[in-house]
Amino acid sequence: MKIITRFAPSPTGLLHIGGARTALYSWLLSRCNKGKFILRIEDTDIKRSNIKSINSILEGLKWLKINWDKGPFFQSNNLYRYKKVIYKMLKQGSAYKCYCSKERLKKLRNYQIINNIKPRYDKFCLYKNIKNIKNKKYVVRFCNPEKGNVFFNDEIRGLIKVNNKELDDLIICRENNIPTYNFCSIIDDLDMNITHIIRGVEHINNTPRQINILKQLGAKIPKYFHVSLILGNDGKKLSKRYNINSINEYKKNGYLSEALINYIFKLGWSYKNKEIFTLKDMIKYFNIKNFIKSSSIFDIKKLNWINRYYINNIDIKKIKFKILPYFKKKNININNKKNLKKIIKLFIKHSNNLNEIVDSCNYIYNNNIILNYKIIEKIIKKKNNLKLFIIIYNKIKKINFWSYNNIKNIIKKIKNEFYLNMYDICMPLRIVITGKINTPDINNIIYLIKKKNFLYRLNNIINLFY
Ligand code: GLU
Repeated sequence: MKIITRFAPSPTGLLHIGGARTALYSWLLSRCNKGKFILRIEDTDIKRSNIKSINSILEGLKWLKINWDKGPFFQSNNLYRYKKVIYKMLKQGSAYKCYCSKERLKKLRNYQIINNIKPRYDKFCLYKNIKNIKNKKYVVRFCNPEKGNVFFNDEIRGLIKVNNKELDDLIICRENNIPTYNFCSIIDDLDMNITHIIRGVEHINNTPRQINILKQLGAKIPKYFHVSLILGNDGKKLSKRYNINSINEYKKNGYLSEALINYIFKLGWSYKNKEIFTLKDMIKYFNIKNFIKSSSIFDIKKLNWINRYYINNIDIKKIKFKILPYFKKKNININNKKNLKKIIKLFIKHSNNLNEIVDSCNYIYNNNIILNYKIIEKIIKKKNNLKLFIIIYNKIKKINFWSYNNIKNIIKKIKNEFYLNMYDICMPLRIVITGKINTPDINNIIYLIKKKNFLYRLNNIINLFY
């Protein structure tokens, strides 16, 4: 049997961590079995679907290198097919029109809640055999069996049994004549010969309802995998809102797609203590036995750890290429890319992502150093320090060949000549030329800032405070 999987997002929000994980697992299952992976956009909820979300899904998947074999198919282009099936079901009596008003449904619901009955539609329009009421709006409901149970074997959670008495007569077509998600999804799964459905556990209640419809249509039932929830630190489900967990947000913040996909992969699946998985590794190791049943917590520290691993281990040339847009976005002008590799190497060890590298090396490219009041009072206005700056200025000015070693030797000589500690000379110098207390080796920083800029910065301080 050829395995055919699909990712079927509703474009009502940006592609987020949870969606990307579902896509990844479905993609992996097809790739491990030489099957096919289909992308289907479930956009029948016209009010909530939007183009921004569609673009985010397509771009996000491409960035993560989750490629699809067929699609993207849009359900909004397939309405004729769904309506045809609904028409047939109405004729056969496996679906019926429901004319009940919102008020009646509300009253029914309240009555059921007060009397401790599980709220569900009471099949009023079916029993009363109401066929056609002219000019009155209606929805179409599936006529769910009243007796027996629905069984299915969730490949992650085991056997699940639901009594049909628990299930509602699902609305399969809305008042506006647009079929609903639950229905379109089944028809497409059937038409596309989907064999394995991987989706979030929030859909587990839809599955028995969908199976009943599939059975009614005489279809083969696919295998189902309901993957665990991803929770935030607060123990609540990761929110789709505010774009916080959107894939694009992580890209914007300088996470590598290799790292993000690795982290997402491990959010619901595990293999021994192995943490680092390239896409190739994932295809090699992935099997359906290793899904984690319990919810996972989204942990930014772990993602940072993985991202640090990747940025420190992939070819620096690639990082150099990838980091350029991040400089641009922050309006940092790197005219000369000659030293960029060196700069990246110097800052990468202490950075979680590309944005942090750019932020931490910003002062190399920017002569406007901002110093706070306390530093000015405590360090810069000290007479000895100002004298020291003048000495350093004059000596560095005389360097003919600008090299790390020449800078280092001069600083050392000054230190020895005036019986100073390395700290006494490097600390004030570091602060005035970078505005920071902590930086990588100061000789290196001076070298990278370059002679002209170094002298300019030091001269500014001397002119202002001496
Ligand atoms: N369209 C549904 C969603 O975005 C997924 C449906 C499915 O995978 O069956 O949540």
